[in-house]
Amino acid sequence: MSAAPMKIALVGIGKIARDQHVPALAASPDWDLAATVSRAGTVDGVESYTRIEDMLAARPDIGVVSLALPPVPRFDVARAALLAGRHVMLEKPPGATLSEVHGLIDLAQAQGVSLYTSWHSRSAKAVAAAKAWLAGRQIRAGRITWREDVRKWHPGQDWIFEAGGMGVFDPGINALSILTEIMPMALHLTGADLEVPVNRAAPIAARLRFAQGISADFDFRQEGPQTWDMEFDTDQGQLALRMGGNLLEIDGKPEGGDLSIMGEYPALYAHMAGLVRAGASDTDLRPMVLTSDAFTIGRQISTAAFEF
Ligand code: NAP
Repeated sequence: MSAAPMKIALVGIGKIARDQHVPALAASPDWDLAATVSRAGTVDGVESYTRIEDMLAARPDIGVVSLALPPVPRFDVARAALLAGRHVMLEKPPGATLSEVHGLIDLAQAQGVSLYTSWHSRSAKAVAAAKAWLAGRQIRAGRITWREDVRKWHPGQDWIFEAGGMGVFDPGINALSILTEIMPMALHLTGADLEVPVNRAAPIAARLRFAQGISADFDFRQEGPQTWDMEFDTDQGQLALRMGGNLLEIDGKPEGGDLSIMGEYPALYAHMAGLVRAGASDTDLRPMVLTSDAFTIGRQISTAAFEF
């Protein structure tokens, strides 16, 4: 017999909440979406609040809070939920700064609740197979190309180009989450170029270089076909992960994965259910450390103004 569903509140009813979180929760036997918290967004048939404090006070029966807010406003809400003794799941990137996320990790531990810094791209279809294939092989070189159209995926989201919004690292950190998951060794960022529009605070494009011979090219200005690819040359052949980690190729031939069902968010919520039931946390910050390193050592280059 399966365990009873757990009550969960979803905070930040915007694009990703509607596209992925709400359908994943509705389809899951683990969860009962019992409330939302958002200034404007609501979900049909679900009790809604506009302030986290009000939801926490009114619904002590809701033990888990999932945050689908942009990174900058996320910290105060996560802290309030943890202080109220609730388990917390964070969208990627888990916060605006490393120090605030370390603070949340310490607070969750002190409160004896679960904290999950989720990385949805790690649940893409071919990531586990790529990790298994690369284990034990020597990586000689790698090329990451993560080029998408910000107007298509983040229409009108000015927060993404504000300080703390991370610009092109908002999708780029997805590539870094896959990279840190599948690499058999730790990565060392040695250089970065960050192209920042003259009227914005965060980069629209970035090129990264790692000591391991891996390079990354992130760009928000790609119109037409979108590219989320990784290619690795090893001592025993070539591996490519395409379509955001969903398709695997070995030596140029398809080796599995598929695009038919987008299973990333159902996998995240199944993992969160397991963490809560086991009294555990999952707080791998490696993708954010690399992102932070890129902002620290990156060379800033001014580029053309950008408007949505
Ligand atoms: P979004 O739609 O712009 O924002 C989500 C909601 O957060 C907004 O609708 C807004 O709801 C609330 N919010 C509260 N304070 C805010 C503030 N200061 N600025 C803007 N919104 C604020 O963003 P999203 O695309 O869903 O992204 C949210 C998070 O999910 C990001 O960390 C992103 O990296 C991640 N994510 C996004 C995608 C995607 O395709 N867009 C994919 C995967 C992950 P109220 O106005 O109702 O409060």
